[in-house]
Amino acid sequence: MATAGKVIKCRAAVAWEPNVPLMMEEIEVAPPQEGEIRIKVVATGVCHTDLYHLFEGKDKRGFPTVLGHEGAGVVESVGPGVTAFKPGDKVIPLFLSQCGECKFCKCPKTNLCDCSWSSKYHDIMSDPTTRFTCRGRPILQFMGTSTFAEYTVINQIAVAKILDDAPLDRVCLLGCGISTGYGAAVNTAGVTPGSVCAVFGLGAVGLAAVMGCKNAGASRIFAVDINEQKFEKAKVFGATDFLNPKAYNKPVSEVLAEMTNGGVDFSLECVGNTEVMRTALESCVKGWGVSVLVGWTDVKDFSARPIQLISGKTWKGSLFGGFKSKDSVPKLVHDYMTGKIKLDEFITHKMTLEQVNDAISLMKTGDCIRCILNISK
Ligand code: NAD
Ligand code: ZN
Repeated sequence: MATAGKVIKCRAAVAWEPNVPLMMEEIEVAPPQEGEIRIKVVATGVCHTDLYHLFEGKDKRGFPTVLGHEGAGVVESVGPGVTAFKPGDKVIPLFLSQCGECKFCKCPKTNLCDCSWSSKYHDIMSDPTTRFTCRGRPILQFMGTSTFAEYTVINQIAVAKILDDAPLDRVCLLGCGISTGYGAAVNTAGVTPGSVCAVFGLGAVGLAAVMGCKNAGASRIFAVDINEQKFEKAKVFGATDFLNPKAYNKPVSEVLAEMTNGGVDFSLECVGNTEVMRTALESCVKGWGVSVLVGWTDVKDFSARPIQLISGKTWKGSLFGGFKSKDSVPKLVHDYMTGKIKLDEFITHKMTLEQVNDAISLMKTGDCIRCILNISK
């Protein structure tokens, strides 16, 4: 590669500060250092967590940054010590790393790698050891990935090598939303055959949770959202019943309890709203109900009556669907290529990097499930 070992100047959408549109800029991307990989980003999804950082998060120190964490691309060059990747390999950047060495990676109970940016820098939601500069200033790498740029540099512990014939403009979705929702159902909740489930929030994460419940053999899947336009899609992924909490003059947990003789076996919160988290817990059946937090928020505390847990319910949370990232993402790509999981059905819009602010607006208004940005050919 003619660019190997040199600084690459390329286009990126920079978030200079919170609450303002991203700016198209020329950035400099340094060559990969020891153990790092420089990736040419081909396509990326836009996830609600990008919007969370830009608009909702309370810690404003994680700027300027390049957002984007649901991408796929091709290796441009590798740094010293990298042997498992070579230029031309198709890869998916991982916002959750898997170093394979820390006590968490060695434990089968969790996917939380201690070397991930989220262990040390979850407040700024970025990796400060950035390889980006713009206008003479360092630019942070959001979630350690920064896929709203033509090139990015990532440590090899946070990169998954995938099948050569994988379509990057679709499998990029496995970098976050789809793996997250699907895994939250099949891994974290551990949905069982014949069970009754409820999924709150029907964005890509929630729809993927519906797909997980269906693949795990759930007999009834309630799809809950305040935007009824989402119900048609939820049906495609296997939802059987549809509830708009605003259409009732009592809590939707009571509606669910009446419809299911006491509550659902599994509930998944895929909104990122502490009130909905409480409702999802209250919607579970006593004795064995399991409720999983998937939606992302660190703004407020949540609350619940202790009797909810004393009565035998379990409340748990899930990051990246509980998948050990480097091991699992290539398998999920294979599952898509062999028809075990859907991806195409999540994609409602396709745009270019220059249109990223339009894609963000579409997510905000709820008019889109996933918009794929084509970053480069
Ligand atoms: P999205 O914005 O596309 O979808 C959210 C959905 O929730 C929308 O359909 C919206 O109408 C619905 N909603 C809003 N308020 C509601 C309410 N009160 N009751 C029911 N439904 C309501 O978002 P997304 O990209 O699917 O992400 C969903 C959440 O998952 C976000 O909080 C995101 O940050 C989080 N997330 C978590 C992880 C993780 O690893 N835990 C990873 C990715 C995303
Ligand atoms: Zn995400």
